[in-house]
Amino acid sequence: MDPTQISHLALDIGGTLIKLVYFSANGDYSEESRNGCSVVKGRLCFAKFETRKIDDCLEFIRFNILHHSGVQQPNDEGHDKLYVKATGGGAFKFADLFKEKLGILFDKEDEMCSLVGGVNFLLKTVPREAFTYLDGQKKFVEIDHNDLYPYLLVNIGSGVSMIKVDGDGKYERISGTSLGGGTFLGLGKLLTKCKSFDELLELSHHGNNRVIDMLVGDIYGGTDYSKIGLSSTAIASSFGKAISDGKELEDYQPEDVARSLLRMISNNIGQIAYLNALRFGLKRIFFGGFFIRGLEYTMDTISVAVHFWSRGEAKAMFLRHEGFLGALGAFTSYND
Ligand code: ADP
Repeated sequence: MDPTQISHLALDIGGTLIKLVYFSANGDYSEESRNGCSVVKGRLCFAKFETRKIDDCLEFIRFNILHHSGVQQPNDEGHDKLYVKATGGGAFKFADLFKEKLGILFDKEDEMCSLVGGVNFLLKTVPREAFTYLDGQKKFVEIDHNDLYPYLLVNIGSGVSMIKVDGDGKYERISGTSLGGGTFLGLGKLLTKCKSFDELLELSHHGNNRVIDMLVGDIYGGTDYSKIGLSSTAIASSFGKAISDGKELEDYQPEDVARSLLRMISNNIGQIAYLNALRFGLKRIFFGGFFIRGLEYTMDTISVAVHFWSRGEAKAMFLRHEGFLGALGAFTSYND
């Protein structure tokens, strides 16, 4: 990569993943004049690394000479230094490491502010960013910029944050849950011996949650509990069959365990999101965070949960750049 064409590196260092966004005028660099203003063409680049393998991230930055792509600003003593925008807990935890290994100083951006900034940026500037996923159908949603707020942002990272967004820079973290992507990955590793998130997802793809989940039909002898609107296939108790079968973990197929786990986490988040949307009368819920990874089963489970609990009133929407919300928000804050 030509370092002169790279600029504005921004990092989001989370509990599980480090996300990088930077601008590259690489290859298709051109400068043109529009209304007397100079416009530099290029593209945004995205990269991610596991936080536990932070050395790989440092090496990537060093190899691609990204550490020179911040902005000069005065430090506490008034000397100009190169600063890079960084958000997430790791912007605090690893600040010394980045300074020592790469000479990078972090200009820290608030995590929630970056998430909201990232979503607003995407919804206002990137066409076909938001979409719904129901009954196996992905449908892009036209967002009217004048009718964007309020909405609920549910960011599913290691943990989950739920943020009510009322405008640019106007937001409140109203709820969250510790049962998030980290729980799926952590429990999944313990229960299935999978080594990675991708392996766990692949497993879950081939599994059947009904082998382990206790369904309404299992309790009602195969029939619906129609009086209160529960079909026989509704899950009455996640992992509930494991108590009655007298089986050990080894007796279950790991793919069925992975599937149940994914369903349990996704369902629970969908339900808590809906309850919070209800609390504040919000009709639109955007789901982000790397847990989703564009996975149809995850999106379908979340959408069905929101649809079911809201009786079709609220809508779950997803974002194409779901995993990079915080990093994009930090990136856009170079303009502030
Ligand atoms: P954080 O900022 O807390 O690290 P992210 O939005 O990056 O949160 O999401 C992290 C979650 O994404 C993990 O807990 C896991 O469920 C999921 N995930 C997706 N892809 C990966 C991956 N390649 N490695 C680890 N976790 C992944």
